Amino acid sequence: MHSVKEQRQRLIEHLQGEGFLKSPEVIRAFEKIPREMFVPENFRSGAYADEPLPIGYGQTISAPHMNAWMTELLEIEKTHTVLEIGTGSGYQAALLARLAKHVYTVELDGQLVGHAKRALKKAGIHNVTVILGDGAHGYFRKAPYDRILLSCGAAKIPPVLVDQLKDHGILVGPVGGLFRQVLTRVIKSGGELRTETFGSVSFVPLRKEINVDLAKP
Ligand code: SAH
Repeated sequence: MHSVKEQRQRLIEHLQGEGFLKSPEVIRAFEKIPREMFVPENFRSGAYADEPLPIGYGQTISAPHMNAWMTELLEIEKTHTVLEIGTGSGYQAALLARLAKHVYTVELDGQLVGHAKRALKKAGIHNVTVILGDGAHGYFRKAPYDRILLSCGAAKIPPVLVDQLKDHGILVGPVGGLFRQVLTRVIKSGGELRTETFGSVSFVPLRKEINVDLAKP
C-alpha cells in the first residue's frame, strides 16, 4: 500500500497527464491540501481516486479533475478575495485558499458547514470563512470579489453573482440542466461580459432557499 503522500503525488501526475493541472501554483496547492481530511472517514481509502465521493446529506465532493479544471480557469492571484457558492466538504475552498488572500464560501446545509469548518481547521487553513446561507444571493457583505466559483449547477448564472464580481473579475461555474451542465467562464470587463464554455460536467443543483437572504445588508 502506498503512503497518502505517494497517492496524492500519483493523482497529481495523473491530472497533469490529462491536462487538468497545469500551473505550478495550482499543482503546489494540490500537493499541500490533504484531501483525505475532507472526505468522510469511511471513504478515506478512495480519497486519491479521480472520482466524486458522497459527503452525506445527498451531496458530493467533486472528482479531483473538476477541482483542478475550475481552479485553473479562475487564474487566482495572491491578492485576490474569492467567493465560492457550495462549500460541501470544504476541499475546493481549501485549494482556493492556498492561492488567494481570503476565501468566503457559502453553504446551505448547516451540517456540511460544521464538517467543512472542522476539516479546514484540522488542515491548518485559516483564510477561509464558511458562511451558512443561500449562495444564490451571493454574499453581499464582502463584495465585490476578484473571483467567484459557483460549485453547484445552475440554469443560468445568477445576475446577483455577476453584480458582486469586480471589473476584470472572473466567474466560473456549471450552467445548464439538472443533471448535465457546461462548465462556463464569465469575464467582466468594462461592464461587458465575455462568456466562454468548456466541457460537459455534472454537478448537484443550486437549491433555492427563500428564507435566508444574504444579499441584504
Ligand atoms: N465544492 C464542494 C462540492 C460542492 S457540491 C467540495 O469541494 O466538496 C455542491 C454544494 O452546494 C453542496 O454542498 C450543496 O449543499 C451546496 N448548495 C446547493 N445549493 C446551494 C445554495 N443555494 N447556497 C449554498 N450552497 C448550496
